[in-house]
Amino acid sequence: VNQFSQPVRQIADLANTIQVTIASCERVFEILDEEEMEETVSGREPKADSPYKIEFEHVQFGYGDSSEDELLMTDFNLTVNEGEMVAVVGPTGAGKSTLINLLERFYDVKGGSIRYEGVDIRDIDRAELRSRFSMVLQDTWLFNGTIWDNIAYGSHDEENLTDEQILEASKAAHVDDFVRRLPDGYNTVLNEEGTNISQGQRQLITIARAFLADPDILILDEATSSVDTRTEILIQKAMENLLQDRTSFVVAHRLSTIRDADKIIVMNHGDVIETGNHDELMEQNGFYADLYNSQFQSPDEQLKAV
Ligand code: ADP
Repeated sequence: VNQFSQPVRQIADLANTIQVTIASCERVFEILDEEEMEETVSGREPKADSPYKIEFEHVQFGYGDSSEDELLMTDFNLTVNEGEMVAVVGPTGAGKSTLINLLERFYDVKGGSIRYEGVDIRDIDRAELRSRFSMVLQDTWLFNGTIWDNIAYGSHDEENLTDEQILEASKAAHVDDFVRRLPDGYNTVLNEEGTNISQGQRQLITIARAFLADPDILILDEATSSVDTRTEILIQKAMENLLQDRTSFVVAHRLSTIRDADKIIVMNHGDVIETGNHDELMEQNGFYADLYNSQFQSPDEQLKAV
């Protein structure tokens, strides 16, 4: 019996030791977890307090090869704070779309960097980047499908998408109002020529899609097509809802968007030539004031000014 009792006791001891070890390991892991959590929390704190969300630092870019004289942007600098709405304006060819191409990483910078929460966007996976920075309002992106499916397309999590979420987005974008009056409602198929609903209604659908996408950073290229006054008011309201408290870049063509912007970036030849809000820039009476007077004033205001 003794012959066996020794090893058995040893095994029991060992088992005991193992148990104790496991228990203490668990404690160690608990402590590590706690520390890790604390670390993560404190690691995040500076981010939340950070005064910026996106930084362009000494960005250089050109579409051709990188020889100096072909650069469109030679030293582009811009900081966009969290929650800020930035309107980008400037004449055709100024580089507004290029700015957006760079943000979405359709092209990479040739010098300097673009950082998001301190991380160079070249170090962020493109798919990840595009789910955080959503580009919308291109009504050419609507596809030949039902209105319902076109809105749902905005979601980055289609598997868990509920009907309520689609409806909510549709209501916030004032799409629900007109859809309910269509004979086929949400099952209306957008035909390719876009003749069965108006241009303005198509724009509202892209706004609904943006609500559903709910990106960290919203990148918008406002459509320029003229719409009827009633739809224009709806678009304006929908845009206000969408842009509220959201970091956004808008290549702005709409007067109301520009006037609501926290910061207007005036671009020319790839550079920022003026920055400020509408009132500040009007006061400067420079490039923006000229641009505004010639392009952005509504016919009504132009009449009043006469
Ligand atoms: P904006 O959007 O302000 O009208 P863009 O960013 O589209 O200006 O264009 C800025 C300049 O870059 C223009 O001179 C334009 O011709 C040029 N450009 C834009 N896209 C491309 C491209 N894909 N390839 C080559 N040149 C381009």
